[in-house]
Amino acid sequence: MQRDADRLARLLTAEQGKPLAEARGEIAYATSFLEWAAEEGKRLNGDLVPSSSPDKRILVLRQPVGIAAIITPWNFPAAMVTRKLGPALACGCTTVIKPSEETPLSALAIGELACEAGIPPGVVNIVTGDPGAIGDALFNDDRVRKLSFTGSTEVGRMLMSKASKNLLRLSLELGGHAPFIVFDDADLNLAVPAAVACKFRNAGQTCVCANRFYVQAGIADEFTARFAEAIGTLTVGNGADEGVDVGPLINDAAVEKVESHVDDAQTRGGRVIVGGHRVAVDGLADRLYAPTLVSGMTPEMLLCREETFGPVAPVAMFHDEREVIELANASEYGLAAYFFTRDASRLMRVAEALEYGIIGANDGAPSTVQAPFGGLKHSGFGREGGSYAMHEYTEIKYVSWRL
Ligand code: NAP
Repeated sequence: MQRDADRLARLLTAEQGKPLAEARGEIAYATSFLEWAAEEGKRLNGDLVPSSSPDKRILVLRQPVGIAAIITPWNFPAAMVTRKLGPALACGCTTVIKPSEETPLSALAIGELACEAGIPPGVVNIVTGDPGAIGDALFNDDRVRKLSFTGSTEVGRMLMSKASKNLLRLSLELGGHAPFIVFDDADLNLAVPAAVACKFRNAGQTCVCANRFYVQAGIADEFTARFAEAIGTLTVGNGADEGVDVGPLINDAAVEKVESHVDDAQTRGGRVIVGGHRVAVDGLADRLYAPTLVSGMTPEMLLCREETFGPVAPVAMFHDEREVIELANASEYGLAAYFFTRDASRLMRVAEALEYGIIGANDGAPSTVQAPFGGLKHSGFGREGGSYAMHEYTEIKYVSWRL
């Protein structure tokens, strides 16, 4: 993957639409999961536990969980595959991967490289096609022992019930609705660029992207003005063209959903400060939406409740810490949350109070290979990344050994 990084990045942009610079970043991120897991495979240690009987010893072994079904979404067509495949292989599991119909090519390219790298036939299997039929084949085959799924909460819930038939081990990385909180004492030189990157990366089509901005009253006008100015400088266009910051959305339904969320916000009193419309570019399908800022967000708005999965930043004002924690936690989701403050005591208090698996404290880009990526509540369970991922693909067995 390192050797072919440029080719893989271009393929990713061609099938998914994200700007080439982001696709290059995704390929590097995707590669890091293989490298990290390969290293960590050396440390799948067991335990020797003292027994309460003096003539016994207890040996704890970690063994591969077995055949792992891997189902991935379209928004990170390479990284979501390797984030699962790396630890699965390192733990000794064989895999059956089902990428999204929208973006099967990156997964297939990774599969070709696996063959070239000498991974034996039958270890990395990739199946494309009708998701229901593939899912049913996997869930009805009692050789499959594990499901690792990344995708929407709705589909995750449905697959969880299907996986109950054979009591599969489950990792579910589901949707999110991230709050992004800016306190009065925040460093806006950090918070504004972080807000732009966190919101508009992949045109807002990421599970950890900021969905709701809460800004404290004393800084609200300044933050909103600087955020609007920064949004206005983003270039929308073909992801394959250098210098483009925001590419097209994945399909027509995605653009319609964004439009309906912005319309809904306006009918409920929201005000579009920047954007709020499609952008036409010659030669491209009508799937570009202008980076948008909406002020006056209220809890009833769709923008504030559902994943918009598009380049829209809704902003609301708050007054105190307790109020904003309540607002931030008032979501069924619990994947990522962000906040900006210079107060160290508040930093710890707020990090502990937010009901989210991933907290960006003065950080808009917390995802990295070493960290235990994963959610709480309806964002699922299980952790991917670092040594934590290895637990998802190993079973624990113990041997009670009488001397
Ligand atoms: P999705 O509609 O839930 O699809 C995810 C995967 O499930 C796709 O491969 C899809 O196949 C497959 N699938 C759908 N129905 C199935 C069935 N009956 N049996 C087996 N497989 C089935 O999600 P998406 O639209 O691709 O991705 C966006 C969602 O993923 C968002 O909610 C986002 O927040 C979430 N996400 C979460 C994380 C995380 O780490 N927590 C990371 C990235 C994305 P088809 O595409 O072929 O229909």
